[in-house]
Amino acid sequence: MTYTTNPNLNGFDKKATKLVKDTLKMGWVAKRGKKSHMVLQAPDGKTMATVQPNLEAARLYDQAAAPIEAWRSKNSVEVKEEDGKFICGLCGHETDNRMSMLGHTTSRHSEPRVCPVCKRKLSTPSAYGQHLKTHRDILNPPPEPEPEPEPEPAVEEQAVESISTEIEVIEADEIAKRRAKYASMSTSKLVEEMLKMSELLGEAASRLSHYEEKNKLIDEVLKM
Ligand SMILES: [Zn+2]
Ligand SMILES: [Zn+2]
Repeated sequence: MTYTTNPNLNGFDKKATKLVKDTLKMGWVAKRGKKSHMVLQAPDGKTMATVQPNLEAARLYDQAAAPIEAWRSKNSVEVKEEDGKFICGLCGHETDNRMSMLGHTTSRHSEPRVCPVCKRKLSTPSAYGQHLKTHRDILNPPPEPEPEPEPEPAVEEQAVESISTEIEVIEADEIAKRRAKYASMSTSKLVEEMLKMSELLGEAASRLSHYEEKNKLIDEVLKM
């Protein structure tokens, strides 16, 4: 297992995830340890930190963050700004250009950065960043494919649903046909038809003695 710039952070809580991501932004690289912890290596190739997946406990967080903080303070140089001039907080070097001051502090006052893959030394963060890109395949492998989603357990339910929808469609169709049939009748013919139907209904209702009969009646009504 080699170091990468996009380690798998599955199972890491918020605090642990943020700590790891912050170090990655500073050029650190990371790999998962055997016990699900994260091993981090600073750009100097020497400073190491171990981050456990759960850092909600303050003590664990401080423990994990200590080497990272130490490295950060050693690698950040205070720059004073006076009358449009930038003054190096470590050696007093002056320049009126912010970028050239950044070049000064990183080249003079930060340790060389060591490539975690080929161990080559790079003198500035930007050269280090550029160099890491040459190892893109190793340092930034494509994310692992997402596991196949579980098959949906509701297949039967879906089938039932589609069948009942079909019945609804057929019923609506039937009703529409019957409506059209009645609409085409003359009023007297329609009244005649209705009387016939109510007669049938009355007859059926008179036979209605128990629950099963009721269902038969409903069936007959549906057939009308
Ligand atoms: Zn300086
Ligand atoms: Zn390299």
